[in-house]
Amino acid sequence: MLSEFDLIKKYFTKPGQNIDLGVGDDAALIQISAGHQLAISSDMLVAGTHFLEDCPAYFIGWKSLAVNISDMAAMGAIPKWATLAIALPNIDETWLSEFSRGFFACADEFSVSLIGGDTTRGPLNISVQIMGEVPLGKALRRDGAKAGDEVWVSGTLGNAALGLAELQNKLIDNVLSISEKQTCIHALQAPQPRVTLGLALRGAANSAIDISDGLLADLGHILERSNLGADLYWEDIPHVNLSQKLDTATLQSLSLAGGDDYELCFTAPVTQHDAILAIGEKLNLKLSTIGVTTKETKINLYDKNRQLIELKRTGYDHFG
Ligand code: ADP
Ligand code: MG
Repeated sequence: MLSEFDLIKKYFTKPGQNIDLGVGDDAALIQISAGHQLAISSDMLVAGTHFLEDCPAYFIGWKSLAVNISDMAAMGAIPKWATLAIALPNIDETWLSEFSRGFFACADEFSVSLIGGDTTRGPLNISVQIMGEVPLGKALRRDGAKAGDEVWVSGTLGNAALGLAELQNKLIDNVLSISEKQTCIHALQAPQPRVTLGLALRGAANSAIDISDGLLADLGHILERSNLGADLYWEDIPHVNLSQKLDTATLQSLSLAGGDDYELCFTAPVTQHDAILAIGEKLNLKLSTIGVTTKETKINLYDKNRQLIELKRTGYDHFG
């Protein structure tokens, strides 16, 4: 049986970049660039809550790092270093090797180095801490939105929630084609953090957040921190294109309250509108204006006839 130390060496030790001392000592040593702030965040993934028990280990590895990198993207920070604290019920080398492959695939794609962590026995639980850099004072914060800002989102919302519904057999048979199924399940299992977008938005956006718990909940955090509200237009919200097969209420619930998309929601002055569209073109990423922030501290959602749509469930709350 592999010892804890051999396990760490075999699955969690890879040469990295931007490190003076990595895995193997009591602490890692790093140097941060002059004139920069260290951005730090952590996210925990618990089996059954954040991923289904039968999720392939590769994707658990990918996602555990990707959701952390997404927080760096939302801050406009460059992700650089991560630590991994993992509790494993047993030493299953097939599982470990796939988990490690997924984790490092994501680490390599975003140039993040794994610099340390902790390994222990227990119910499967994965806790990653990410560290990144942002030039002093340039971070995209939740509290920076100004009244009259346009509200933007990247990509398409609702795919991940649809993938989860599909895997949980909550959809009527054959609602999704085979390729739609693949797209949605991939969105759920292998989110793509919007790092280059976050970096490009420095100096253009006033505030940003990544959408992990659903658009309304996460935009709600920006609005609360900035003491604002918003008028949003359903027709402008880029949602899964399944209006032939799903009713509007279901589509709205998936794309407004469904979690796990890891797109960015941000606000920016109208004067930045064309610059932001140009960023989207350069990155080949759809960026959509979905409304405007207001001084009235609530979210109003309007249909195409400018009638108010009643909002029920607004997002995923682990304690709700
Ligand atoms: P200590 O007992 O001093 O806390 P450990 O024996 O727990 O150290 O860990 C030994 C080394 O391996 C440390 O550098 C630690 O950061 C690293 N490490 C432990 N678990 C992991 C992991 N899952 N991923 C990456 N590095 C790890
Ligand atoms: Mg020690």
